[in-house]
Amino acid sequence: MLQDQEVHAAEMERTFIAIKPDGVQRGLISEIVSRFERKGYKLVAIKLVVPSKQFAEKHYHDLKERPFFNGLCDFLSSGPVLAMVWEGEGVIKYGRKLIGATDPSKSEPGTIRGDLAVVVGRNIIHGSDGPETAKDEIALWFQPKELVSYTSNEEKWIYGVN
Ligand code: GDP
Ligand code: MG
Repeated sequence: MLQDQEVHAAEMERTFIAIKPDGVQRGLISEIVSRFERKGYKLVAIKLVVPSKQFAEKHYHDLKERPFFNGLCDFLSSGPVLAMVWEGEGVIKYGRKLIGATDPSKSEPGTIRGDLAVVVGRNIIHGSDGPETAKDEIALWFQPKELVSYTSNEEKWIYGVN
């Protein structure tokens, strides 16, 4: 039988979260990072980068047929983006909940977009939408050695395992 600790380790997952140029320019880095941090997720990678247009197109390749694709890629490559990887049980799905609906006019109050953004073209944050996307996006934005594995001092209090 698996010990609590092994179950806990097996359930850990990682997601890619990015604060887009509007969030960085508006001074929302600490606000957004703190929401993930206070929830109990663990930061395992972080860097500030200005992606090229070509890189932005790779990141958003799924949307290349959409009319806003070109503007979206211009925007993502227009300034610094804070790229991060967060780890925790259920972080991919729940991270999307913390972020809120794509269109901030429909995001619930209490979510990042609901509280801090107004229009869909400037919705300040990106989060992977599923396990496959998370894996691909982490690999696109980070080299394996940039991901830091460590035990957070708080884990036993967050997950209740020793
Ligand atoms: P997300 O996963 O919630 O970020 O949403 P999508 O993957 O559907 O879209 C990616 C990004 O494209 C969104 O976060 C928005 O910045 C942008 N976007 C989505 N839909 C629209 C739209 O109808 N108009 C514009 N201008 N941008 C959009
Ligand atoms: Mg998406």
